[in-house]
Amino acid sequence: MNRKQFLRGNKTEYRPPWAIDEDRFTELCNRCSDCFSACKENIIEKGRGGFPQINFQQGECLFCGDCVEQCQTGALQKSRYEADAAPWMLKVQVSDKCLNFTGVVCRSCGDRCAERAIRFRPQIGGKQKLQLDYEMCTGCGACIAPCPVQAVKLIPVSESWLSEQESLLEVCA
Ligand code: SF4
Ligand code: SF4
Ligand code: SF4
Repeated sequence: MNRKQFLRGNKTEYRPPWAIDEDRFTELCNRCSDCFSACKENIIEKGRGGFPQINFQQGECLFCGDCVEQCQTGALQKSRYEADAAPWMLKVQVSDKCLNFTGVVCRSCGDRCAERAIRFRPQIGGKQKLQLDYEMCTGCGACIAPCPVQAVKLIPVSESWLSEQESLLEVCA
């Protein structure tokens, strides 16, 4: 998957799941909006140039595939992915805006993570360390909207980047 499709300046934009490489995507996508209306979560919206993009502030991706089923142009294609492969290479990232950096205990993101990819380890003095489990993270985005300080986002990653990471990353000092 082409990382450029997601990163524009400081803003992260996300195409719908199972999107093909960005260059081909903008060639094939006719901006018909069929994937918008197919999404029961209402997380697909019109982005730059009228092309679809995911807004995780609206909810999470269920990976139901309804958007792909509706796409008639091949801009979204399951056949480009291995049968059991994730529909995108997105993993959670937590910035130093996280309230736990300031000593305020917050678990809002972890409470929404059904995969338990965000966990907390209690520390002496009532603080806690936030831990990210990249193996468990599916990139569903459920943890993004609940964060009161917008410290959570998804980043596009490669297989080689993933293999270099500790499987359990401690974020808060
Ligand atoms: S896979 Fe389902 S929930 Fe996810 S964007 Fe497509 S239609 Fe929406
Ligand atoms: S259904 Fe396919 S062609 Fe239509 S807007 Fe969505 S991605 Fe583009
Ligand atoms: S993106 Fe989904 S699986 Fe990953 S940490 Fe957030 S809620 Fe958990």
